[in-house]
Amino acid sequence: MSGVKLTNVRKSFGSAEVIRGVSLEVPKGSFGVFVGPSGCGKSTLLRMIAGLEDTSGGTIEIGGRDVTSVEPAKRGVAMVFQSYALYPHLSVYENMAFSLRLARAKRAVVEEKVREASRILRLDEHLQKKPGQLSGGQRQRVAIGRAIVRQPEVFLFDEPLSNLDAELRVQMRLELTRLHRQIGATMIYVTHDQVEAMTLADDIFVLKNGELQQAGRPLHLYDNPANRFVGGFIGSPA
Ligand code: ADP
Ligand code: MG
Repeated sequence: MSGVKLTNVRKSFGSAEVIRGVSLEVPKGSFGVFVGPSGCGKSTLLRMIAGLEDTSGGTIEIGGRDVTSVEPAKRGVAMVFQSYALYPHLSVYENMAFSLRLARAKRAVVEEKVREASRILRLDEHLQKKPGQLSGGQRQRVAIGRAIVRQPEVFLFDEPLSNLDAELRVQMRLELTRLHRQIGATMIYVTHDQVEAMTLADDIFVLKNGELQQAGRPLHLYDNPANRFVGGFIGSPA
């Protein structure tokens, strides 16, 4: 069963075609990683799945439902942004509650969902603090918490760790793996970092110039790259 399915998805900005007919399937409940060099179209693809960008062609399905023309809030997806996208003047609690309040959720529901997310992310002790009083890793967990409270079918991550230092990135990767195991939702993670892709992915999707080069298990791609590009990018065995 597919969590997210793209069929011949295309995107042009003016005369520039940046996504050139991408078809792929991220199995339900799995951790999929879109990897490729800067400018290959990873963010554009993710934004189309989120509904933040229109498609120029093709279809997008989430949990078997065609959502190509569905508005973002009704797709069952939540995007995790880099931690600097938090509201600095709001507490951790209010940052996580924000989207629920926008959706006019009842006070008790907001409370319950924020408590649940903060338990999963081990932020219970920090709910009254402002983002500025937290460590980089804690701030990133709050950014993830903002997605968790919405209980999406699919989590979308666009290079969420790229502004963290090396040690913290390693730690956050482990956190993400733990989170995925605990929540069991479909997750799609975008990165230009091969190591990150290899460590996190159930399946890797390698992109170049708006085209899918190869999809499969990390070790399968490592051992059997479909072409020179994939071999060079993933790091072919000696
Ligand atoms: P990546 O995330 O892999 O670095 P992007 O999806 O951001 O790549 O960009 C893919 C291509 O689309 C790039 O050439 C970029 O310049 C172009 N692009 C992205 N967004 C826009 C836009 N809003 N208008 C015009 N071109 C864009
Ligand atoms: Mg990008």
